[in-house]
Amino acid sequence: MAVKGLGDYDDGNVFAKILRGEIPCKKVFEDDFSLAFHDINPQAPVHVLVIPKGKFISIADFTSKASDAEIAGFFRAVGTVARMLGLEAPGYRVLANMGEHSLQEVPHFHVHIFGGRPLGRMLPER
Ligand code: 5GP
Repeated sequence: MAVKGLGDYDDGNVFAKILRGEIPCKKVFEDDFSLAFHDINPQAPVHVLVIPKGKFISIADFTSKASDAEIAGFFRAVGTVARMLGLEAPGYRVLANMGEHSLQEVPHFHVHIFGGRPLGRMLPER
């Protein structure tokens, strides 16, 4: 079900549980600021999620409240993970959902990295 991506951070969201080690994930990368792991329901041959370790709901929440170090660390991690996965040469897509129109499901800011095949146009035809 889509979330609004607004309001207070929900400590019960599934990525908060992954960060606390309460549920497992297939980890790809971790540093002080970020964790990257395979999506449980992949939409492409490579589908990895990168999340900041802090409690942020959306990209707007993250970029307005996180420290410069957290923001730089997070976006460096996205690039590092894409490189680690061998996606630089063939190309890939980075996507972040926010709120109901995007069908955001998990109210902890994250980006999706998709790759491993040609990905088509950015948005489906209407
Ligand atoms: P959103 O729609 O919020 O941008 O994407 C949330 C993503 O989280 C979805 O692609 C969904 O498959 C993934 N997801 C939901 N629950 C879990 C989980 O428990 N583990 C992992 N690895 N991914 C999850």
